[in-house]
Amino acid sequence: MMAVRTLPTRHRKKPTTTIPDPRIRTDPTHRSDRATEVRESTNDRRENRRTRASRANTMDGTPLTAHSHAEIHLFCRATPCPVCGRGPLESQDPHEECGQTVGHTATVRVLCKACREPSEFSFRLPPDPPPDPAGELEIISPTEEPSRIIDVSQWITLYAVLHEESARTSAQPRKRLLELQAGQCLDEALKFFGDEENDLPPPSAFFDDSARNRFRNQPQEFSRQRLINFRAALPKPLG
Ligand SMILES: [Zn+2]
Repeated sequence: MMAVRTLPTRHRKKPTTTIPDPRIRTDPTHRSDRATEVRESTNDRRENRRTRASRANTMDGTPLTAHSHAEIHLFCRATPCPVCGRGPLESQDPHEECGQTVGHTATVRVLCKACREPSEFSFRLPPDPPPDPAGELEIISPTEEPSRIIDVSQWITLYAVLHEESARTSAQPRKRLLELQAGQCLDEALKFFGDEENDLPPPSAFFDDSARNRFRNQPQEFSRQRLINFRAALPKPLG
């Protein structure tokens, strides 16, 4: 279980406040100060909350399905606040960034840095944690199954954030770790494409309207070949 604890420690040096989410920036409901639009925005947020809650199944207590603690950690980095749609979300327990784990269920309590509202996510983990082949970084998912909590759009954003961070970092082994993690995010994004010869991801790769809008507006960002090319420029873990 060492690896489970090492990833959050590294990330704690770089707070989650640095994560830009293009979906947040492009959502006009978050830019308006006018009263009418604020009311609409509030309705949007409530709708957003319901959407997220039903996706998260947190209302009825059914946990989300996660492959690993590493995936849960990235989910919290990539997911906007369920209440206001902004973020970022930060762990309410500084010692357990990936949540409290009881049996195979992890519960993560987060606080939104924008609206200060708390949220809670529950995740069901596989019975056996993924192996850690080289001790270099945590495995996000040892299976070919696409993530059920982070969609293709969010993986591409996470890749971009980690890749930019690695470009700004000169110190090894921090730089290598960020490159490895950026590569992992592309691997996860590519899992959504399946075995067919499609260059663009299927509709099932998108979990909400903001991701589908991003795809509609910038389909070239989602080109499989483009992602493969990016992946080829990044290292793979030893072992
Ligand atoms: Zn919020």
